[in-house]
Amino acid sequence: MSDDPQTRRQIESIAADNRPLLVLDVDEVVLEFLGPFMSWLKSENYSFRPISFALDGNIFDADGAEASKTTVKELVTRFFEVQHDWQTLAPGFPDALEPLADQVQIVLLTAMPHRHFEAREALLSSLSVSYPLVTTEKAKGPAVALLHGGRDAPVAFIDDMAYNLLSVGKAMPGAALIHLMAHRPMKALMPPLPDSVIAAEDWYMAAAEARQALGV
Ligand SMILES: [Mg+2]
Repeated sequence: MSDDPQTRRQIESIAADNRPLLVLDVDEVVLEFLGPFMSWLKSENYSFRPISFALDGNIFDADGAEASKTTVKELVTRFFEVQHDWQTLAPGFPDALEPLADQVQIVLLTAMPHRHFEAREALLSSLSVSYPLVTTEKAKGPAVALLHGGRDAPVAFIDDMAYNLLSVGKAMPGAALIHLMAHRPMKALMPPLPDSVIAAEDWYMAAAEARQALGV
């Protein structure tokens, strides 16, 4: 049971489905995030230097001073307000999904404040991505469990953040956890993934792993 009431309402509004479930993160999985965010930062006279696997500590102002955590948070919020002008589909999406798209239920689960739901849905729609969208301000695991709803079919989850994959693994021990991240320079800085996570190099490998896990 998701402990985010808004997330729960969104999930309850999605038509019931008994097919295997494939849940996709949005930023860095369905949409490029870091590349467009870095371009937008440049337009705002900030620069992003991939020094560590984080946003904090890697963003610098025009004078070369490191942006504070508060500023980084504000920049991300401002970026999400203009996301439709900057974000593009991740390489391989949605083509790699084509062989299984009709055989599974696909839902997008994005960790972002609910107030950005409409902007994100409009952006996805403008890119012809029509899968149901769910926003959450809490852990992803309980939301995926609620989406699955105890149906007699497997679940796979694709995300670029280990903590989201582990959250889903904790809530649904049988879930296939697949890591995928569009931005190569930041991915190179990522700490090793937990053993329970399948590392996918690109969307084609992620889709093949999902297909195997979902038995389709
Ligand atoms: Mg993401």
